[in-house]
Amino acid sequence: MLAQNDSGVGVKNGVNAFGKKNFLGCFAPPHAVLNDLGFLRTLHPRDRIAGIAEAVKVALIRDAAFFHWLEGNADALRDCVPAAIARMIRRCAELHMRQIAHGGDPFETGSGRPLDYGHWSAHKLEALTAHELRHGEAVAIGVTLDTRYAVQIGMLASGVEERVYSLFKRLGFHLWHPAIETRGEQSRLLILDGIEEFREHLGGELTVTLLRAIGQSEDVNSLDRNQMIQAMAWLRRRETGL
Ligand SMILES: [Zn+2]
Repeated sequence: MLAQNDSGVGVKNGVNAFGKKNFLGCFAPPHAVLNDLGFLRTLHPRDRIAGIAEAVKVALIRDAAFFHWLEGNADALRDCVPAAIARMIRRCAELHMRQIAHGGDPFETGSGRPLDYGHWSAHKLEALTAHELRHGEAVAIGVTLDTRYAVQIGMLASGVEERVYSLFKRLGFHLWHPAIETRGEQSRLLILDGIEEFREHLGGELTVTLLRAIGQSEDVNSLDRNQMIQAMAWLRRRETGL
């Protein structure tokens, strides 16, 4: 589900190696990508649901009408109704192909990763949980955090974070994991190291995608750590009541 919604439709090909995810790979445009819906029936429900996170992500940064459609079809998607799943996957593929064809940087030579909304923390959370969290589950948390963050800094209208949170909940996501608050030396929150690691991974300047509005993203070059900690506290309260 995750690959059909996201990583399978692209020019980047990666394999895990030396205990690291996508450690080796190449950039090569495929002649074609076959998305077989029947294959999805073989998935464990946990993986089926996790993969929907990438559809929510791409809708938020690229396509408000698609986001509204996801809100209206959340129950059908959670229940894996084939017609709903097929429509979601098709729209995701269209948005990815548009990015490759018209995004201006199909081989990711620049320091931006335009479709990696919510991913700086997601990558870090996967590592902090030793991949106990699925990529999609971590992305759902990362997307919700960065949406709340944009509201807090006044970049995004208040209320959008509630819609994103509600959509993920209706789809069946848990949006909290204790690893979010893993601390290192001098009680530093390790998840925040994900910001610097994201920059290193891209090379050059930190470029993080945030939301201006549903369907409209904007890149920023810094994140306020205290605001991000407040966003995490908000999410913890929503999910645990503490
Ligand atoms: Zn992803």
